Amino acid sequence: MSDPIAIQTLKAHDIKATLPRILILKYVVGNETHPTAEDVFNKIHEEESSISLATIYNTLETFVKKGILQKINSFCDKVHYDSNMDLHFHLICQKCKKVYDIKRYDSIKFQIKKELFKKYDIDKMQVCFQGCCTDCKKLNSKKDQS
Ligand SMILES: [Zn+2]
Ligand SMILES: [Zn+2]
Repeated sequence: MSDPIAIQTLKAHDIKATLPRILILKYVVGNETHPTAEDVFNKIHEEESSISLATIYNTLETFVKKGILQKINSFCDKVHYDSNMDLHFHLICQKCKKVYDIKRYDSIKFQIKKELFKKYDIDKMQVCFQGCCTDCKKLNSKKDQS
């Protein structure tokens, strides 16, 4: 994302374009690693050391409120941020704590009663799986062999 597009995006969401906001937006949009506030802080700090962790938190929360980001409340205590607003599920690896997208959600069968959809207007859904990712599984099997 270029600076002009970042500024445009902020304006379109009624957010005043400031340097921290532009930098944070550029880092989080399209970022598939689902960064935490600390991850964003560490990255942004390389470019602009005057930006505090508090600013990062506040900005991320503003982006969530404005619908630019969604929060993933994982099983661990850390909150992850995701700019992919499409319906998709997550897997959180309990070993490396990485968050993976599960895009083929249609292959997962959920039994949600029809009455639920009749009673409520559901516009958001969060499903989070916990497990061990393929990278960590590989590491584990290597350890077993040695
Ligand atoms: Zn892992
Ligand atoms: Zn995601």
